[in-house]
This record gives sequence, C-alpha cells and structure tokens, in this order.
Amino acid sequence: MGGGRGDMRRKISEIMADMDKLHKVKLTDEQIDELNKALCDLSVTYKNNTIYLSRDLLYKQDAWKNLKKIKTVHKCKLMIIDAMESMEDIQDLRFAANELKGIEFKLQELWGFPKDARWHKFWEVSHCLCPKMDNNDWYPTGRCFISGNCPVHGGKYEI
Ligand SMILES: [Zn+2]
Repeated sequence: MGGGRGDMRRKISEIMADMDKLHKVKLTDEQIDELNKALCDLSVTYKNNTIYLSRDLLYKQDAWKNLKKIKTVHKCKLMIIDAMESMEDIQDLRFAANELKGIEFKLQELWGFPKDARWHKFWEVSHCLCPKMDNNDWYPTGRCFISGNCPVHGGKYEI
C-alpha cells in the first residue's frame, strides 16, 4: 500500500516549497494596480437601489482616477431620485430636477465625456409626465418631448 509516512513528508515539503515560491513572487506596481482594479467594488447603493459601474467603461474612458468621485456623485443621484419620489411640492421637484441636471453634467465630466444634455434621461424621474416612449425613441438625438402638464419639466423648464 502506498502513502506511507515518507510519501506524506515528501508531499508536505512539496506544498511548502510551492508556498515559498508564491511568497517570493514580487508583483510590480502595475500588477498590483491591475489586481486592485479587478477586485474593487463598483457598486453604488442607496436604500433599495444599486447600480453597477462598468469596469470596461472605466478602462475605455481612463476614468479610474475619478472612481471615488464618480461613486459619490452616483450616490447623490440615487439620493435625489429617491427623495423626489416622496416630494409633492412643485418647486421642490423642479429644484431637485435641476440638481440632477448638474449631477449628470458632473458625471459626464468625471467619466471624461463631453458635457452634453442630449444624454440625460430627464424623463426617468418620479412625477414626470413627459412622454417616455417618444423620449426613449429619440434618445440621444437631443430631440425631446416635454409635456406642458409635467410638474417637473412643464412650463419654462429647459434642458
Ligand atoms: Zn417631465
């Protein structure tokens, strides 16, 4: 029968040798950087809403340096969207919508995109009565449809 005491000792020394090798591996700063990027949490959560940032896009836009800020601003966005759900006052809603517009511009800046309102999906907030299908159909051409009755965007609201 195999697996005597000698075999077991040999096996253990092999494992120890492997561990030793592993320990001696020196990662370059670049490799450590890549590992950190691969492991870092790209989710942003506020209450029941969670969004996930795109790792590919962070690479594509070379936006890793702004990741912390991007996450913070996204969290603000989720907070405002959440707050709007329970808002009843039209002035509050419009104020919040305007803040969101600023946040969208800030995100574009942090992601390294041009600041361009054509990419803002303003019709996705609570209480908005603007025609969603039309707006989605024409997105992101810049052609937008605003309902005069929309408490958030109706009237003088400009995007
Ligand atoms: Zn609206």
